[in-house]
Amino acid sequence: MDSAPPKIAAGNARFATIILTATLAGGAAVVFFFNPATHTFYPVCQFHRLTGLNCPGCGMTRALYALLHAEFLRALHDNALFVLVLVALTIRAAWFRWNKLRGRLNSEFFPAKFLCPLLVFALAFAVLRNLPMFAFLSP
Ligand SMILES: [Zn+2]
Repeated sequence: MDSAPPKIAAGNARFATIILTATLAGGAAVVFFFNPATHTFYPVCQFHRLTGLNCPGCGMTRALYALLHAEFLRALHDNALFVLVLVALTIRAAWFRWNKLRGRLNSEFFPAKFLCPLLVFALAFAVLRNLPMFAFLSP
């Protein structure tokens, strides 16, 4: 039995890229025009509501709003993890695209070996941002 994941045909990958890009652009447009700090239709973090603690995602929508309005320090304050992951994904995408154009692509965009360190980093971020001495990491 072959354990390799099925390959996505080039036409399907292009269609999926278009759908993903349109969805991300639409979501970004909503966040751009409706400030999460003043509009109440955004979902509330249930972890924060139940525990009063900040999860790794708390402040992410506000950070996105700040980034879309070029307020980088505000975005870092609202959710530094989100900003760092976004920067890392952008660098990875550029590297991935560069190697693909040069015909030297031999890996996945997000290999499974990246997942465990990212989860450990997110967990450490969640613990730190709830400690009084790291209150600057809380939104
Ligand atoms: Zn949360």
